[in-house]
Amino acid sequence: MPRGQKVRKIPVRICVGCQEARPKKELIRIVRTPEGEVVLDPTGKKSGRGAYVCPSLDCLEKAWKGKHLERALKAPIPPELAETLREAVRNLPVPGRSRGG
Ligand SMILES: [Zn+2]
Repeated sequence: MPRGQKVRKIPVRICVGCQEARPKKELIRIVRTPEGEVVLDPTGKKSGRGAYVCPSLDCLEKAWKGKHLERALKAPIPPELAETLREAVRNLPVPGRSRGG
């Protein structure tokens, strides 16, 4: 049996909404920049303290209303960010939903 490829461990992160571990790339990253600003990080490359949430409005609401996001980032979340995040979730390609489209 050829064994060319090793099984690579995928980095997982905990969603601050549902508290479930998911592959990092499936999650939305929200970051508190060194300047203390809380922003969406679509690239996942911004420096700062990050928090992760599933790309679902449900998790977003949970993270938001339960103050999990705030606690994870140790910073107040600007109200306008909620809208930004909702937009981001809506615009994300949902795997499996529009296959072959
Ligand atoms: Zn979640």
